[in-house]
Amino acid sequence: MDKPYDPFDKTQGRTDPSASSGSSRAKSRDERSRTYDTIIIGAGAAGMTASIYCSRYKLNHLIFGEVVGGQFVDAVVIENYPGFTSISGLDLAQAFKKQVESYGVKIRPEKLIKASRKGVHFVVTTGKGEPFEAHALIIATGRRHRRLDVPGEAKFLGRGVSYCATCDAPLFRGKSVAVVGGGDTAIAAAIHAAAFAKKVYLIHRRGEYRAEPLWIERLKTLKNVEEVLTRQVREIRGKRSVEEVVLDQPFKGKKALKVQGVLVEIGFDPVSELADQLGVELDERRCIQINPDHSTNIPGVFAAGDITHLPGGVSLNQIVNSTGEGAGAAASAYQYLCQLKPCQQEK
Ligand code: NDP
Repeated sequence: MDKPYDPFDKTQGRTDPSASSGSSRAKSRDERSRTYDTIIIGAGAAGMTASIYCSRYKLNHLIFGEVVGGQFVDAVVIENYPGFTSISGLDLAQAFKKQVESYGVKIRPEKLIKASRKGVHFVVTTGKGEPFEAHALIIATGRRHRRLDVPGEAKFLGRGVSYCATCDAPLFRGKSVAVVGGGDTAIAAAIHAAAFAKKVYLIHRRGEYRAEPLWIERLKTLKNVEEVLTRQVREIRGKRSVEEVVLDQPFKGKKALKVQGVLVEIGFDPVSELADQLGVELDERRCIQINPDHSTNIPGVFAAGDITHLPGGVSLNQIVNSTGEGAGAAASAYQYLCQLKPCQQEK
C-alpha cells in the first residue's frame, strides 16, 4: 500500500518512476500498482505546465499526451508568447518538453481511452488496457481540428488535404492552394503558404475575419493571396489528388477553384470524452465547466487550458492563458491533496 501522501515530506517521490532504473517489465508493474498523487491528461501548454508545477510541488505524477505540444505544435509562428519574439510551435513544444523532463518526468505517449472513479481515487486506462490510478486528475485534453465535413475531405487527406500548414505548406511550392477559415490559424496559414505557393485562395464564410488585426494587416500586403469571402467549400474534387474546390456560390464567375492543396484551418472542437465518462460537467460546446480555482464538479478532478470554460471568464485560447491555467490547476490539486491526507490515514 502506498505511504500516505505528505506534501511536506520531501523524501517522497515526485517523478515518473519510468524515468528511474530497473527492468522495464518490473517498472511497468510498479507503475500500474501504485496510486499516483496526480495524473495529467494532455501534453499541450496546459498539461506540460501543470507537470512542471506538480514537480515543483513534489507531487508524484504521470503525464499522458499523444502529441507533445498539443494544438500549438502546428503553429507556423508564435509571436505572442513572452520571452520569444518569434518561435515555431514545434520549437516551443520542445522547449516545454525539455523543462518537463528536467524534473525526471517522461511524457507518456499512450492514448487514454477510459477514465473512471474508484472510491475517492481515479483510474485511467490506456488503449492497451493498462490501468493507472491517481488521487487527483488534471484534465488538459485541449481540442482537436474541426473538419469541414464535405465530400472529398476524407478521401484526399494526405493527398492535398491537410490540417497542418506548418507541416504541409512547403509541399505546395509553385502550386495553387486554398486555405479555409478566418481566424488566427487560417490567416497565419495563408501567410505561410504564400511563401511557397504560386497562388493562395483564402476562403472564409463571412465578410470579416476574427483574427488579430496584425495578422490581417500582414495578409493584405501579400500579392499572391486572393481573399474569397462569404463563400463556403461544398466539395473537394480530384482524381488521385486534389484538383479543385467547389464553392457554394460562384467567385468571379467560377463555381470551382483550381487548386492542388486545401489547408483546412477552421478551428477546433473540445476533446472531452474522458471528462464525460467521469461525470464532469460540460457546457453546451462540450468544454469543461471549471471554478476559478480550476476545480470541477467532481472533487479531485481539475481542468486547464483550451478544454475549460470558466463562466464569466475571458476565453482567449492563447498559449499564455493555457500555461497560467496549468499552473493554477496544479496548485489547486496540491491543495486538494493536502486536505486528502487525513482521509488516507483513516484507512
Ligand atoms: P477560430 O475558432 O478562432 O476560427 C475558426 C475560423 O474558421 C472562423 O473564422 C470560423 O468562421 C471558421 N469556421 C469554423 N467552422 C467552419 C466551417 N464549418 N466552415 C467554414 N468556416 C468555418 O479558430 P483558430 O484555429 O483560428 O484559432 C483558435 C484559437 O487559437 C483562437 O482563440 C486563436 O486566437 C488561438 N490561436 C492562438 C495562437 C497563439 O497563441 N499564438 C495561434 C493561432 C491561434 P466564423 O468567423 O464565421 O465563425
